[in-house]
Amino acid sequence: MDTQVVIIGGGPSGLLLSQVLNRAGIATVVLERSSRAHVLSRIRAGVLEWGSVELLREAGIGARMDAQGLPHDGTYLTDGDRMVHIDFKALTGRRVMIYGQTEVTEDLYAAQDAMGTTVLHGVEDVVIEDLDAAQASVSFTVEGARRTLTCAYVAGCDGFHGVSRKTIPEAKRQEFERVYPFGWLGILSRTPPVHDELIYANSEHGFALASMRNPNLVRYYVQVPLSDKVEDWSDDRFWTEFKRRIPAQAAAALVTGPSIEKSIAPLRSFVSEPLRWGRLLLLGDAAHIVPPTGAKGLNLAFSDVHYASEALIAALTHGSTAGIDGYSARALQRIWKAMRFSWQMTTMLHQFEGEDSFAAQMRRATLAHLADSETAQKDLAENYIGLPY
Ligand SMILES: Cc1cc2nc3c(=O)[nH]c(=O)nc-3n(C[C@H](O)[C@H](O)[C@H](O)COP(=O)(O)OP(=O)(O)OC[C@H]3O[C@@H](n4cnc5c(N)ncnc54)[C@H](O)[C@@H]3O)c2cc1C
Repeated sequence: MDTQVVIIGGGPSGLLLSQVLNRAGIATVVLERSSRAHVLSRIRAGVLEWGSVELLREAGIGARMDAQGLPHDGTYLTDGDRMVHIDFKALTGRRVMIYGQTEVTEDLYAAQDAMGTTVLHGVEDVVIEDLDAAQASVSFTVEGARRTLTCAYVAGCDGFHGVSRKTIPEAKRQEFERVYPFGWLGILSRTPPVHDELIYANSEHGFALASMRNPNLVRYYVQVPLSDKVEDWSDDRFWTEFKRRIPAQAAAALVTGPSIEKSIAPLRSFVSEPLRWGRLLLLGDAAHIVPPTGAKGLNLAFSDVHYASEALIAALTHGSTAGIDGYSARALQRIWKAMRFSWQMTTMLHQFEGEDSFAAQMRRATLAHLADSETAQKDLAENYIGLPY
């Protein structure tokens, strides 16, 4: 064999898997379609569950996160001007860490460089074959030359639009999907946050999220119709809309400035089963997508890495394939619970086009119940900080 595990995709799940496997003495080759600069320019997730924090530390890349990340003990959910505080620390004894996906990816690339692992960029036309043979093979084009690698296992970490999931025959795949009738318009701005914790705002004008990356870099979102284009949204229009959706107390603290990134992301829930096909394991967005309302996308990718790395290490160091056989069922148990939470948060906080007046009252009642019930708060906190692996 040319290597033990070929990892398709050099995003967070592919790089973390490579990191964990190489530290266990397992050889990998990562195949990434884009340049490193492009991967590092993608502004995405920003909230790490504590399980992800511990996983990154165990993988030897926790130092910068621990120095620069912002631990958050809670978050706010709001209904108009009413702010409901969810105190993660008091309710569960745990917290989350604010540390951007871009930073995590940068740390992973630096650690891979230091270990001297192989990460090929600009890889095209990946074809995965022989998944039911004694060894799998992966063919691809890089720098104009066609190459083939043989390996024991292939890890499909190539995101929603990758090739790995589609390698599983369509008749053997079951897909579950919910597409939401709105997107999130997000901006990044070098301004101080309106509050020291995140605010998930339900308002009569639609949903908004006040998030952050560091004490002078905010990530703010507003719910927009799917038909909207980024060009429709000047910075001024964004600030005006954002300000009227967050509680007055937070709006009073709002500092505006030029956006340094602006994009619209559609919201969807998606799961493809199974996560394992012969010698192929699927991880992260290659197998599932959540709407960002519960901050679960990146964290689910990391819990997949935890399960998959355990299975691969057992198979490749002790010859025990029980973990590989059980990977799909084990990972899916946690995935479906995170799917439920993300769907529930999305339904609780967004306006749906054409909804009746009853729907708005249900959202308000859910938030009122959350304000008054410690049991409801504990349930939300337990899911938000991340279910155990
Ligand atoms: C716009 C946006 C905003 C998001 N915001 C949040 C958020 O606020 N909170 C949150 O928790 N999550 C968020 N997410 C989700 C989170 O970013 C993903 O869950 C996370 O990136 C998953 O990591 P991954 O490595 O599995 O997939 P990706 O990050 O998609 O990485 C896959 C990699 O595979 C590469 N690739 C694709 N096809 C091929 C191929 N054929 N050959 C080789 N390489 C290939 C891609 O270039 C990419 O680098 C967001 C996602 C998007 C798209």
